[in-house]
Amino acid sequence: MALPFEPTQKTEPALSQKSLVAMISDKFANLTDARTGENTRYEVSDAALSAFAMFFMQNPSFLAQQINLQKNKGKNNLQTLFGAYSNPCDNQIRNLLDAVSPVELYAIFSRIFNDLHATGYFEPFLVLNKSLLIALDGVDYFSSEKIHCDCCSTQEFANGKIRYNHKAITPVIVSPKQNQVIPLAPEFITPQDGHTKQDCELTASSRWLQREGPALAVHNVTILGDDLYSHEPFCQAIRAQKMHFILVCKADSHKTLYEWLADFERENKVITITRTRWDGKHKIHDTYRLMNDLPLRNDDEAMMVNWCELKSVRDDGKVLYYNTFITDHPLSSSAVIDIVAAGRSRWKIENENNNTLKTKGYHFEHNFGHGKKNLSSVLATLILLAFLFHTVLEHIDKCYQLLRSVLPTRKTFFDDIRALTRYTCFESWQQMLEFMLKGLDIPIPKSV
Ligand SMILES: [Zn+2]
Repeated sequence: MALPFEPTQKTEPALSQKSLVAMISDKFANLTDARTGENTRYEVSDAALSAFAMFFMQNPSFLAQQINLQKNKGKNNLQTLFGAYSNPCDNQIRNLLDAVSPVELYAIFSRIFNDLHATGYFEPFLVLNKSLLIALDGVDYFSSEKIHCDCCSTQEFANGKIRYNHKAITPVIVSPKQNQVIPLAPEFITPQDGHTKQDCELTASSRWLQREGPALAVHNVTILGDDLYSHEPFCQAIRAQKMHFILVCKADSHKTLYEWLADFERENKVITITRTRWDGKHKIHDTYRLMNDLPLRNDDEAMMVNWCELKSVRDDGKVLYYNTFITDHPLSSSAVIDIVAAGRSRWKIENENNNTLKTKGYHFEHNFGHGKKNLSSVLATLILLAFLFHTVLEHIDKCYQLLRSVLPTRKTFFDDIRALTRYTCFESWQQMLEFMLKGLDIPIPKSV
């Protein structure tokens, strides 16, 4: 049976909502189907497309609305915009996706990364001799004392109560020069070795490094992370993948390194530079300190790292920023400014990624379903994919860019799409955006 997509039209850009959906539809057709019997292949695909569509449209009622639309108009947007053959019910979606491993979806992230890279998309992101910055962080997306599955992590309290939770490492490409962040395939923090051994953020991040490192290393990657990651085995694992690192390194968790630093301070060997800038109201003094070649732990064989610090103080004495980092990039009076700027862009994983997923309509801490095995992590991966698709469209789709720039908020954009797709079936995503632009008397961009 052929997929319900025609080959990409010449008028469509190489990367578009249509081409992206065609690509995932193709991948979804090969997802695990745990049922026995024949002709079941497309149903798992439709279950995945339906869940993806719900997250992409930021509309928990999208599937029910499309069933009504099908009854009233004989067609629906789940078919026309997402290429699903059927509209499976919520229970079917939950059952089918519970058997799929999130690992089966990871190749989609790599494919989009490669397509974006081919367009030169990452060029403006590069810093520090053309290095691509990837920030790692753990994010909680489920917690309960009642609902649980085989993949839940557990936390036991003194009173005997157990809290079940799900957490994932959500790596993103960041840059001090760019507001956008680009999500990469996640790694789930889930009990390993036959569900007996609890997993942790650092171990899951190491698995992610092993998995993605070989393909990413050619992009001259620098890994960013918080103090938890300033741990010698992890730093060595980064170097083994031919990547660099800039990691927060606090004094209370790295006593040896800071004792060595204090010795060098007494000998006046720590380089200090101060830059003064004006923020429109106040003078701000940025004081950088740096020292190369300090041991990361108390051992003759310890890894040697380079350390730097930034303290920003307003002229009225208020401390605006303070942080310390270790890196394998060589530090100098000139290099330290860019290295600290790169290290600081780690916060974007919290602001632009994790908060967007939780608060900007993606329902990352969703309650669509938990499942017995994989459902929770498969849905979380589909949410990340929906976020990635919107990020890509914001960059490549001229009509999308125009609409987002003229509509007052992203909420208005999604509110309008929710209302339109409830009442009307569009032939394509492109037709829907053009309909919206026409309604606003905005000319359709010629390049589309
Ligand atoms: Zn669970």
